[in-house]
Amino acid sequence: MSTTAVQQYDAIIIGAGVTGLYQLYRLRELGLSVRVIEAAGGVGGTWFWNRYPGCRFDSESESYAYSFSKELLQEWSWTEHYSPQPETLRYLNHVADKFDLRKDIQFNTRVRAANFDATANCWEVEAESGERARARYLITALGPLSAPMMPKIPGMETFRGTAFHTFNWPADPKGWGGADVGVKGKRVGIIGTGATGVQVIQEVAKTAGSLTVFQRRPNWCTPLGNGPISAEEQAKIKASYPEIFAKCKTSFASMVHDADPRSALEVSAEEREALFEKLYPGPGFSLWLGAFGDILTNQKANDLISDFVARKIRQRVKDPKIAEKLIPKDHGFGTRRVPLETNYYEVYNQPNVTLVDIRETPIERITPNGVKTSDQEYELDILIYATGFDAVTGAITRIDITGEGGLKLKDKWANGPRSYLGLQSAGFPNLFTLVGPQGNSALCNVPRCAELNVEWVTDFIRHMRDNQQTCAQPSKAAEDAWVDQVAEVADATLLAKTDSWYTGSNVPGKKRTFLIWAGGNPAYREILADVAAKGYAGFELG
Ligand code: NAP
Repeated sequence: MSTTAVQQYDAIIIGAGVTGLYQLYRLRELGLSVRVIEAAGGVGGTWFWNRYPGCRFDSESESYAYSFSKELLQEWSWTEHYSPQPETLRYLNHVADKFDLRKDIQFNTRVRAANFDATANCWEVEAESGERARARYLITALGPLSAPMMPKIPGMETFRGTAFHTFNWPADPKGWGGADVGVKGKRVGIIGTGATGVQVIQEVAKTAGSLTVFQRRPNWCTPLGNGPISAEEQAKIKASYPEIFAKCKTSFASMVHDADPRSALEVSAEEREALFEKLYPGPGFSLWLGAFGDILTNQKANDLISDFVARKIRQRVKDPKIAEKLIPKDHGFGTRRVPLETNYYEVYNQPNVTLVDIRETPIERITPNGVKTSDQEYELDILIYATGFDAVTGAITRIDITGEGGLKLKDKWANGPRSYLGLQSAGFPNLFTLVGPQGNSALCNVPRCAELNVEWVTDFIRHMRDNQQTCAQPSKAAEDAWVDQVAEVADATLLAKTDSWYTGSNVPGKKRTFLIWAGGNPAYREILADVAAKGYAGFELG
């Protein structure tokens, strides 16, 4: 971008994470001039930022790989079944190098605003620095979890120790992971017990002098079942990529796990218990996605699996009072994305770890010395906020996006996102929101749903070019129907009834609405294919 002559491209992509890199690769292949604008100093998106200790995949490593290059698949060897963040970041850098992607990426540039110029049929993007660039197509590839959310607690600015959100864990200047922030032997506090909190807690507990976990609501966590990939397993993985990706295409969440089609209520108690026992240790989402299909739709079925996991927690945590605090009472198993863990519950048997239930004793303020709850002050050297994200919409609406007739996207979405297929919103021509709201972004193995989105958008742009069309946006009717369909599909599940980042209810003041497509990837894939086969039905093309 430039402050003087405004550069013109065919497409601007915002974000150089898993999705943006692949979109760049595909559009360049199509012959388009493309500029990727990235706030970070390197590629990797979520894997660039989240450098906290313990950060790793919850998808099987081999199912997370890009599938588009056989050569890449064969030359890259994942070392663990659930790759740790430094290895994943190294992988994405390898991809950027191999396909010479960096030359089209501008780093350290945060987009502030994007305005549609109807006369020129083009988007003008403005960075925080004031630099501007223009393109016919504007494509957001921001990831569903990239707008970190700090809580608003009085006195936060007064803390004299080290404090940061997990998303902003300082980088190791010499490597791909996080810096050593000196946790060893120190008094550490962590606020938040979602998937991030769980990963960082189990790691920090190993060396901290004391660890105080401030938990508002517990989550249902199950074992990850990670381990190194042996040479034999490596050879098997490399020989079976086509089968792995074919399996992901037909599974609900684009993972290697598939639900048992029976109802949890139609089998005997012994059979049910035996299946739960088999799936509980992992690997990965075995229990969440591999148990009976109705655990996420039928309250009685869900009660059975919740009771099973509660018993496991009671077995693993020695102090019954602490065990009860760790068992969710306000939502059933799997109705929020399940944090995967390695000895997480056992952490609470350690003498250096204290669990503070902040619903019983709320945090009143952050002091210069630590955290003051309603019953005592916890003195800390390091305070880690694992408090999550303004998910799915936050990273998009933090950019001041103005469409036709001065319409602001954040105003249009004030009562919840409105899109067609999760990919376009009426009034914002040629703006595509990859892995965005009402798409399949987050109930999914992200690279698989990103590939689906990217390939579909690339085909759409090719179609427009072949038909001398320069402008696309959904009809209002198609958008209204999709918004209703997304809500209807979600309402048939228990997920929509649970407070979580899926519903936006984790963000104070955010309208509660189910933010993503909950009908599974095979159905979403079919809908996209059908729309394309019907000449991009539902879109107004000109
Ligand atoms: P999250 O699930 O939203 O968890 C945030 C935690 O912070 C919750 O425990 C929440 O409590 C707590 N919290 C938020 N505001 C608070 C406040 N003001 N005071 C006290 N506590 C507060 O966020 P996350 O843990 O970052 O995970 C988000 C998603 O990222 C996951 O669901 C997953 O999809 C993805 N992720 C994946 C992996 C992986 O394994 N690959 C790892 C990490 C994250 P409440 O529950 O009471 O709101």
